[in-house]
Amino acid sequence: MTRCRLCGSAAMASVVDLGATPPCESFLAADQLDQPEPAYPLHLRVCTDCWLAQIPPLITPEETFTQYAYFSSYSTSWVEHARAFVDGAVRRLELDAAGEDAFVVEVASNDGYLLRHMVDRGIRCLGIEPSVNVGAAAREAGVPTLTAFLDPATGARVRAEHGPADLVVANNVYAHIPDVVGFTRGLRALVADDGWVSIEVQHLLSLIEQNQYDTIYHEHFQYYTVASAARALASGGLALVDVELLPTHGGSIRLWARPVEAAGEPSDGTSPAAAALPGRTRGEAPGARERVAGVLDREKAAGLQELSGYTEFSARVAKVRRDLLRFLIEAAERGETVVGYGAPGKGNTLLNHCGIRPDLLPYTVDRNPYKHGRFTPGTRIPILPPEQISADRPDYVLVLPWNLRAELVEQLSFVHEWGGRLVFPIPELSIVEVK
Ligand SMILES: [Zn+2]
Repeated sequence: MTRCRLCGSAAMASVVDLGATPPCESFLAADQLDQPEPAYPLHLRVCTDCWLAQIPPLITPEETFTQYAYFSSYSTSWVEHARAFVDGAVRRLELDAAGEDAFVVEVASNDGYLLRHMVDRGIRCLGIEPSVNVGAAAREAGVPTLTAFLDPATGARVRAEHGPADLVVANNVYAHIPDVVGFTRGLRALVADDGWVSIEVQHLLSLIEQNQYDTIYHEHFQYYTVASAARALASGGLALVDVELLPTHGGSIRLWARPVEAAGEPSDGTSPAAAALPGRTRGEAPGARERVAGVLDREKAAGLQELSGYTEFSARVAKVRRDLLRFLIEAAERGETVVGYGAPGKGNTLLNHCGIRPDLLPYTVDRNPYKHGRFTPGTRIPILPPEQISADRPDYVLVLPWNLRAELVEQLSFVHEWGGRLVFPIPELSIVEVK
């Protein structure tokens, strides 16, 4: 029986069952097309005791992340997002003044897309990145990077060697680790007793409200509300102090947490974090506790602290699938051409769940050269360089990274030259005329 990985409860309710799919970053080389491809069940459940939404950990991060295809620096808006984060964090925690005395650690630091801004400012930093190839790219870019997974032992080792961190950044990784308690203890081991942990992770509230079901994939083991994230942080001795709502990934949360001793009472998700704390501590932004309480209220109003918030989701997912398939089939019947844009991990959940193969989508394109000449897992759609779109002038471009909608409507506006249109599948099918 599947038990909740945070609280151990056996009370797990089904949210949506997406069938069986291959790991979403396992793009196939041409010589793999005649080989078998493993598929794993993708079934989201929610624990009705602590309300952590989760999928079973069928693929370990070790299998996923030794040769990872995702280089953060390939997304323009992502690099800009990282720069803005560093500016804000440096100001908030006054890291500039400390210079070489300050120490910042980023967990899952990818190709150094974020820490290079710390390096530029002369702030001492270290990346911890499990992917060998991605970490090597970071070191080449001048960002000190340790190839490792974070657990309590790694955290203690880094602390012993480099000292405690004033700031530990863990962006887009808190969903990717099946041992959420061990990882959180690792964060606690890294951070100074009066330091800060900053975590960005997708917000389950947006996922549910906006039908973002394609962001469910095997690499994402759990899906957080602020309430369940506060409980997860508490499991490692961290207390949630502040939260910001971000537009990234279709809706994310940035959690600011501190060791319980520094923050006062940990939030258990039901009582707003340490509301009774006397005065603000260093680095705490004005209105922090009120912001946490405000988001907790929104989550509660959406029914996410009871079963009612989860029961309709499966039917809405089925409608996204029907609408997209109907569009693709009717376009094919009319003799119109549809090609894809982007080959993100989430696209593979969508393509596999909908059963879209090259007869409906002959190819997709991506800016990441690693993916060129490869094929999407499961659905085996060829991935080509972006220039292919202007060469072929298709009637429609199906945009798989819908979360970059504003950026891509602009970037792909050239399709209007031949009357082409963009299609976004999520939150619901929309066909966009670009000018
Ligand atoms: Zn639980």
